[in-house]
Formats: sequence, structure tokens, C-alpha cells
Amino acid sequence: MKNYYSILGVTPDSTDAEIKSAYRKLARKFHPDVNPYGTAQFKDITEAYEVLSDAKKRMQYDTLNGFFKSSKKTEEKQHTSSEQAQSEYKKQSSFQNHTEPKMSKEDFSQKINEIFEEFSSPKSKKKKFHPVRGEDIYENVSITIKEAVRGTERVINVMHTSECPNCKGRKFINGSLCKVCKGSGEKSEHKKITVKIPKNVKNGTKLRIKNEGSRGQNGGKNGDLFINIKIEPNNKIAFEGNNIIYNIPITPFEAVLGGRITIPSFDTSLSLKIPAGTHSGQKFRLAGQGLKHNGKSGDMIVVVHIEIPCSLSDDEIRLYEKLKKISSQNIRENLLNE
Ligand SMILES: [Zn+2]
Repeated sequence: MKNYYSILGVTPDSTDAEIKSAYRKLARKFHPDVNPYGTAQFKDITEAYEVLSDAKKRMQYDTLNGFFKSSKKTEEKQHTSSEQAQSEYKKQSSFQNHTEPKMSKEDFSQKINEIFEEFSSPKSKKKKFHPVRGEDIYENVSITIKEAVRGTERVINVMHTSECPNCKGRKFINGSLCKVCKGSGEKSEHKKITVKIPKNVKNGTKLRIKNEGSRGQNGGKNGDLFINIKIEPNNKIAFEGNNIIYNIPITPFEAVLGGRITIPSFDTSLSLKIPAGTHSGQKFRLAGQGLKHNGKSGDMIVVVHIEIPCSLSDDEIRLYEKLKKISSQNIRENLLNE
């Protein structure tokens, strides 16, 4: 059995006004909108008030639990403390089993609403329910280099919260925890959000999707959803700011003879003229072919690497053999002489 007097910090001598005042003070302190950890206490004090605020129920409760008003004390008694109530509580030696007095839900609901209207009314200078903006949500999204350059779309699955439809976000219904949201006042569900990733996006870009973050409290704005773009690395392409570093293979004869080579690029293919005698690792700049950002275009830096085609024909092998035979220069001769 719960001692409703000590829960409210009053005594069996307390007047209705004192009980109401005590409840109001505690409700302000523990209402879950004000105090996120106050749910259990709020439930207790509300239950206590439900009984003690009703003359009939209070009398029934007093009789069942052996609480008596001390005849010497008057109704005008002003100050009570929880210590007093606690000692009163300890004096009671035996408690009988009892069934909890039930009260008309409508009556009590009205009573409770009056109190909440009082403490959330615009008359009180200090507002008790501050609007709180919802938290931002961050999601990482990996995309390929091709997607980064061309743009793409992703469906993001986020936990979305909305007002509990049962209690309308009030957390309590007639002083009892809402059964649907269990006192959170919110409904959580997965929501699919389609995010457009613009072309020429850079690694580490944060895309902001307004209002898709956590829900705001007490009329506060929702947070935002931030998509953190991660471009998957690729051994062919890297980004340096708006520049694209592009590693491409060339054949030995292209390196020797030079000429025009065709490079497949994102939207199109590009043509690059390489000089005769090009070395492996040599770099060529294609101005304006990098990422476009804020009206500016970066460059494409082509790094050529001499590679031997996977399958060579017999004719090709014969020509290489001939080349080997007639080759006069030893390119490793002066390695240590420099
Ligand atoms: Zn609810």
C-alpha cells in the first residue's frame, strides 16, 4: 500500500487547498514534459492526488489505512513537511488490505486539466513548456566515383518520430501513462526518404534535408537529416578538391611514338595528345575537365602508366623479339653514375 500523504509531502491534517498546492508543486517538478526522468514520480503523485483530492475517496482511504485527523490541529494549519508526513506514516502500525477507490474518470480528468491549464497558462511569466528543437540525424552514404560525378539517388531508412496518436503527445491520459506510447508521447517508425545526390558531389559533402531529423518537443522545430557523402575509393581515380586525378594505361608503342589517345570519361570520352617518348608516370592536364562546383571547374590530371596488353599475338611477339635484337642502348648502364 502506498502512503499518499507522504508521496505528496502532506499530512492527514492537510486541507484540500494544501493538498492541491502540494500536488501542483510536485507536478511542475516531475511532469515528464519538464523532467524526462520524472515519469514514475509523476505517476505516483497523480495517483495520490486522484484519491486525496476527492473527499469521499479520501475518507475511504483514511478509514481503510488507519489515518486519522488529530483533533487538536485545526484546518488552518499552514505548514507541513514531508518529514512530518513520513513520521505520521510510521506511527500507523497496521494497514488493512483494501481495494483502491475508483473515481469517476471524467471528474478527475477535469480536475487535473484545471491544474495543468493553470501552470501552462500565459499568465505565468515563466513558461514551463519550452519549445525544444529536435535533434539532427546523421547518416553515412557511400557512392561510387561514377555516381559522384553523374549524380544519383539513394533511399535512406531513418527512424522517424511523430506525436503519439493516442495521447496526442501528452504522455498521460487522465493521470495514467498512455498505453500506446508508454509515456514517451511519441510514435517511432521507419521512414524511407529518397535523397537526390547532385552531380559533381565531393567526398565528405554533407547534404542537409530539412525537417527530417528528430521531432521537436512542445511545438519546437524538427531537427534536420544530414547525409554524409563518402566516395568509395578506386585505384583509377582520386579527387583533390575539384581536380580529378585519373590513372590511365598506355601501350609501349604509344609511349614511344606518341599520338592521340582516347580516354573514357564520365559524360563523354576525351582526347589527349601525348608526345613521342612519353614516360610512365608522366602527367597531363586537361583544363576544365574536373569537378564543377559553384560555377568553377577543376582540371583533370591524367597520369599515364605504360602497360603491356594482356594477350599479345605471335606477330607482336616476333616484332618485340626483333626490337630486342636491334636495340643498342642499355638503359640501366648509368643507374649508379648520377
Ligand atoms: Zn501516447
